[in-house]
Amino acid sequence: MVDLEDLGRIRENEWFSANEKELIRQAKERKTAQQQQMLAAEEEKLRQLHWMKCPKCGHDLEEVVHEGVKIDECKKCKGIFLDAGELAEILLRSQEANRMLFRKLSHLVFKVSS
Ligand SMILES: [Zn+2]
Repeated sequence: MVDLEDLGRIRENEWFSANEKELIRQAKERKTAQQQQMLAAEEEKLRQLHWMKCPKCGHDLEEVVHEGVKIDECKKCKGIFLDAGELAEILLRSQEANRMLFRKLSHLVFKVSS
């Protein structure tokens, strides 16, 4: 014969076996969300600490225009730092300027020789 206490334990075990996987999944999900929040908070803290700061000397960077491209220059050590694509843009503009100079020079040479 099963007494009331045994019946309670049996039902409790049944409930846990039926819901254990879901409880573990929810706990893992909460832990992952918590870790992602901590990582995002740490990234934001680092971003605020280093935003527009020179990676060499730590002083402030200021945005200056060079060859028509905005670049970051350190006020202290005069180091220049480029965002993604800025070097390629400067090189392309420089190549275009060289081509234009070459065309002008070749016209001059043509005029002089003819
Ligand atoms: Zn610097």
